[in-house]
Amino acid sequence: MNVLIVYAHEEPHSFNAALKNTAIRHFEKLGHKVVVSDLYRMKFKAVADGEDFLERRNKYVLTRQHEEAKAHELGTLSHDILVEQKKVQECDLLILQFPLWWFSMPAILKGWVDRVMTLGFAYGDDKWYDRGGLQGRRAMLSITTGGPEHYYRERGINGELEQILYPIHHGILFFCGFTVLPPFVAWSPAHIDKPTRHHLMEAYEKRLSEIEEEEPLSFHPLSHYGEDLRLRQEFTP
Ligand SMILES: Cc1cc2nc3c(=O)[nH]c(=O)nc-3n(C[C@H](O)[C@H](O)[C@H](O)COP(=O)(O)OP(=O)(O)OC[C@H]3O[C@@H](n4cnc5c(N)ncnc54)[C@H](O)[C@@H]3O)c2cc1C
Repeated sequence: MNVLIVYAHEEPHSFNAALKNTAIRHFEKLGHKVVVSDLYRMKFKAVADGEDFLERRNKYVLTRQHEEAKAHELGTLSHDILVEQKKVQECDLLILQFPLWWFSMPAILKGWVDRVMTLGFAYGDDKWYDRGGLQGRRAMLSITTGGPEHYYRERGINGELEQILYPIHHGILFFCGFTVLPPFVAWSPAHIDKPTRHHLMEAYEKRLSEIEEEEPLSFHPLSHYGEDLRLRQEFTP
C-alpha cells in the first residue's frame, strides 16, 4: 500500500509530529511505502493565486476554476502543485495530520487543499462524490485538539466533532471521491499526563494496524439524490 501523510505542524517536537512519526514507523515496518508532505518544512505556498498557472487562458481576468481546468489539460499547473497531485494520484491511503485550529484545519493545509485538489484532477463535470476524481483511495483525518473529548460530544460546549469535521469529510474528501475513514482524535494532548499521552500513541498504532479492514463513514452516493440533487424521500431519516 502507498500511504501519503500530509502533515501540518510547525514544531518537530509536537504531539502531531509524534503521531506522524508513529504512522511512518508503523507502515514502513509492514513494508508499505510512505510519502510525507511536511508542509511547514516545505514552506508550501498556501495562497491560491495566478502564479499557480504557468500559462493563463485569460490574462486579464482570473477565474480560478476555468484556469484549473485548462492547466490540468495542458499540464501547465505550477510545478509544486503537480508534485503534490502525483503523490495523491499514487496513494492508496491519504492521512491528513493536523491540530484542530478554529474548528478546522491550519491555513497551510487548507491552502494545500485549495491548490492541489483542482478541477479536472480531483473533481469535474459529473466527477464528484462517489464519482469523484480520486475514487478508489481511502482517507483519514488524524487530529489533535485543545479541548477535551466531552466539549465535543452531545451537549458539549464546542458542538459535536462529527459536525465540525463534516465540511472536511464530506465537502472535501468524499466530494473528491475518497472513501472516508473515521477520524483518529488525540484529545487535548497538552493537558493530559505522560502515561495518557503514551496510551494515545499506542491507540493510534492499534488503529493503523486495523486500517485496511476498517468500515468507512457512510455518506449518500449520488444515486440517492433525485434530478434536483436533493436526497430522495426514501433515504431521508
Ligand atoms: C490558531 C489556533 C487555533 C486553535 N483552535 C482550536 C480549536 O478550534 N479547538 C480546539 O480544541 N483547540 C484549538 N487549538 C488548540 C490546538 O488544537 C492544540 O494546541 C493542539 O491540537 C495540540 O497539539 P500539538 O501537537 O500542538 O500538541 P503539543 O503541545 O505539541 O504537545 C502536547 C504534549 O505532548 C508532548 N509530546 C510530544 N511528543 C510526544 C510523544 N512522542 N509522546 C508523548 N508526549 C509527547 C509534548 O511535549 C507536549 O507536552 C487551537 C490552537 C491554535 C494555535
